[in-house]
Amino acid sequence: MGKNINTNGSFVADDNTLLHNYISVEELRACTTCNACVEACPVSISPLDIIMELRRSLIMEESNAPQEWNGMFSNIENNFAPWKFSPDDRDKWVESN
Ligand code: SF4
Repeated sequence: MGKNINTNGSFVADDNTLLHNYISVEELRACTTCNACVEACPVSISPLDIIMELRRSLIMEESNAPQEWNGMFSNIENNFAPWKFSPDDRDKWVESN
């Protein structure tokens, strides 16, 4: 934003967004949520909150998730768990033993 103001004399809106223009999807997914940046920040900014919100936006607004996750999302929606089994079949293992 400072560069924008320096160039134009005052802020002129552009089409750049934080996600995609300044932070790539690959960078966003590389975060392991270890919390080290939150612990180390001298002015108590929580970068991890921003990262988590950007990840939420990526999935909820853009439906941009790795292919491997889509099966899990579908299972959670239909079976209330990440597995493909129906909730009614969860206790079947008791009967087989
Ligand atoms: S939580 Fe912060 S320090 Fe840890 S991997 Fe993510 S961005 Fe890096």
